[in-house]
Amino acid sequence: MSKKTLIIGAGGVGNVVAFKCAMNADTFGDITLASRTLSKCDAIASNVKERTGVTLNTCTVDADSVTELVKVIQKVDADIVINVALPYQDLTIMDACIQTGVDYLDTANYEHPDTAKFEYKEQWARDEAFKDSEIMGLLGSGFDPGVTNVFCAYAQKHYFDEIHTIDILDCNAGDHGYPFATNFNPEINLREVSAKGRYWEDGKWIETEPMAIKQVWDYPEVGPKDSYLLYHEEMESLVKHIKGLKRIRFFMTFGESYLTHMKCLENVGMLGIKEVEHKGMKIVPMEFLATLLPDPASLGPRTKGKTNIGIFAKGLKDGEEKTVYIYQVSDHEECYAEVMSQGVSYTTGVPAMIGAKLMLEGKWQGKGVFNMEEFDPDPFMTELNSQGLPWKVMELGANEDRSVE
Ligand code: NDP
Repeated sequence: MSKKTLIIGAGGVGNVVAFKCAMNADTFGDITLASRTLSKCDAIASNVKERTGVTLNTCTVDADSVTELVKVIQKVDADIVINVALPYQDLTIMDACIQTGVDYLDTANYEHPDTAKFEYKEQWARDEAFKDSEIMGLLGSGFDPGVTNVFCAYAQKHYFDEIHTIDILDCNAGDHGYPFATNFNPEINLREVSAKGRYWEDGKWIETEPMAIKQVWDYPEVGPKDSYLLYHEEMESLVKHIKGLKRIRFFMTFGESYLTHMKCLENVGMLGIKEVEHKGMKIVPMEFLATLLPDPASLGPRTKGKTNIGIFAKGLKDGEEKTVYIYQVSDHEECYAEVMSQGVSYTTGVPAMIGAKLMLEGKWQGKGVFNMEEFDPDPFMTELNSQGLPWKVMELGANEDRSVE
């Protein structure tokens, strides 16, 4: 029987998921795109229809309301809910899936609107309820988290007996021509980047000041780039699931202009997430800033250059030390030509579709709440190659890496 798919969130990532599900309509069946603003769903549906010939259903939903979500899920009679709204909605959408007995997938872990801190605790706490409802929840099926977790599982399965260190390297060398803009939701992006850095070593988390650790990595097809240590959510699950791990870090590239703007905005209080009084009105500075900044979806037609995201793993195979680098390079303009979105939305939306595809096809199955590295990486890696995100593996000497300074 034909499946029914409900996508929630009609932003940059939602656009890519809608396109890619339509391009795999044999698996996704009848597709509905629901979001807060109906006109955004309709605009995406119209582009999808024009380019793929597939008709999407659209509707509004307030994903902060479990009651509303339950009604929409039941009306659509969904087999799966793909959550590409904001991390603030993760728990309400998960709870609606529990109530309706429908499988769930997202790309970013829960964040409370009032606390700039993201962790899996509250989503993992729903594991029992997912088991009781006999449904599956797949957490973090974007690129990072998402593909980076799958790369780690693939390295573990095919290249190592034991992985000792992992560096996740996220490079966006795209240029959109604006002095300052963010490639995905500005609020989520700036909260992540301005938070303290954190990495895991010898069983404990080590906190650093924001942007305190810089390394220059030489990214294939991009070149050397300043990369800064950040906390990133996939590390929380990878330390649980990768055997023998001694250290894991995450680095992201930032240009000087981005960092100077961000520092200035932070210094004047524009990154604040607490309400302030302004001429008798209450405003949240970060929300006001997000209103002023370019909509990430509008960056698509103007962004040029490449992304390169991958993992550097060192460890032991048959008693020998070795280093493996698995990475994926995307070109912003090629992404836009295919689905009318820039590379950051593309590299997130394609893995969201792939995770959902493997669930609907029964290739990734389970009852409860899971992270990506808990499943066999092979079918996901195969899909990446055929769905627009081809990857490469580089085997290096035991002490070789691609850091320049
Ligand atoms: P956008 O801000 O472009 O889109 C978010 C969409 O969610 C908007 O259409 C918005 O509606 C909708 N939305 C927000 N609140 C609600 C609500 N209460 N009810 C219904 N709809 C709502 O974000 P992106 O597309 O850039 O990002 C989507 C998700 O992807 C985020 O969770 C982000 O963290 C994640 N992400 C993950 C990455 C990864 O690699 N794992 C990388 C990049 C992003 P409206 O248009 O009305 O505001």
